[in-house]
Amino acid sequence: MVQSAEVVIVGGGIVGASIAYHLTSAGCRDVVILERESHQGKGSTGKSMGGVRAQFSTPSSIRMSLYSIPFFRDFEERLGYPSGYRPQGYLLMATNQRQMGYLRSNVVIQRASGLETVELVTTEDIVRTVPQVRADDIVGGTFCSTDGFVDPYSVMTGFTLRACDQGARVFRDAEVIAIDRDSNGVSGVRTSAGSIATRTVVNATGAWSARVAKMAGLDLPVEPLRRMLVPTEPFDKISHGAPMTIDLATGFHFRPEGLGLLMAWCDPEEKPSFNTNFDRAFVEKVLTLGVARVPVLEQVEVNPSRAWAGLYEMTPDHHPILGAAPGIAGLYLASGFSGHGVMHSPATGKIMADLILKGTTDLIDARLLDYNRFAEGRMIQETAVF
Ligand SMILES: Cc1cc2nc3c(=O)[nH]c(=O)nc-3n(C[C@H](O)[C@H](O)[C@H](O)COP(=O)(O)OP(=O)(O)OC[C@H]3O[C@@H](n4cnc5c(N)ncnc54)[C@H](O)[C@@H]3O)c2cc1C
Repeated sequence: MVQSAEVVIVGGGIVGASIAYHLTSAGCRDVVILERESHQGKGSTGKSMGGVRAQFSTPSSIRMSLYSIPFFRDFEERLGYPSGYRPQGYLLMATNQRQMGYLRSNVVIQRASGLETVELVTTEDIVRTVPQVRADDIVGGTFCSTDGFVDPYSVMTGFTLRACDQGARVFRDAEVIAIDRDSNGVSGVRTSAGSIATRTVVNATGAWSARVAKMAGLDLPVEPLRRMLVPTEPFDKISHGAPMTIDLATGFHFRPEGLGLLMAWCDPEEKPSFNTNFDRAFVEKVLTLGVARVPVLEQVEVNPSRAWAGLYEMTPDHHPILGAAPGIAGLYLASGFSGHGVMHSPATGKIMADLILKGTTDLIDARLLDYNRFAEGRMIQETAVF
């Protein structure tokens, strides 16, 4: 463990790793990542579905995707490590005019924000794209061809390796247990493996970030929420080139994964908690919704012991909280991605490096995502959460 560092990033998931990469790329080389686990990726990053999309409902979410998706596309060229980006698209399917109106108004916002690859699609287009879909009640949808999937673990590893080449150091088995302050603000962190003096601490601890913020006396409105994923056994009745396919009627969605599929659904009954046990009853629930929309799923085989659960990190408006913590000089926040932290990790790294090193960023209007928006009634709701 080092004695001091210019910047200490708490949390070695995909977000902490991207921040370290962007800071060191901008010339700030004395950067330390502290991860409490024996290896990185054991938080939400290693549990993610890996979906990346620009089909959001607010300009700031869309702009973060417009930085991030080309970054994933060029990742290997820039960082010498694969991101696993597969531009197979996201297909959103509507079953009534209210949902269709919602999709139409999102497309207007997406195009105005600079997204050129999104289009409204007809029921016939949907059936051409995923012929196995039961389409008798579908009224249309949207498709964005540059949306798709990445390998979150590989992206995290690529960011970490390049950050380390550029001067960063990673300490694992180093749980931050206290954040020290003096009259000038943050003065250091204490960990299970020793103490580090620093004037800059970044809280990138995902679903656990409210606990870490509390160590500096800050209440952070980020709540953990369990999400479960169910992989199927090898299945070739649906193309492995299919998009992420989302049924807006129920929220059921699936995408190809390996030789089979990965199925998901956000259970509205789920309450905030740190529970990451997979509930076997979920297999029945997700399959019932799945078969109703894609009847051929009746034939999939599922081994429940291969399914898993992880945590979303929810904020009241489903946008992350990025930037300086008010009243605590040197403390920075980068969490609350509300289930979008993988896809927005490149933009988050860039925004945080800009804010830490220059105090400003031109990637987004940073004020929209600051901590004070909650107290000042400036929340902006992101409604495209699946
Ligand atoms: C089932 C599921 C599906 C998802 N699907 C998608 C998707 O399709 N697309 C998408 O973009 N996002 C998705 N997400 C969300 C995404 O995984 C997260 O938003 C993202 O991984 C957040 O990254 P992070 O680095 O902030 O957090 P994490 O990966 O959780 O990393 C935080 C790290 O902080 C460490 N830590 C915590 N406390 C301390 C401490 N005191 N000291 C030191 N270290 C500490 C933890 O061990 C952890 O490694 C999904 C999440 C789940 C659970």
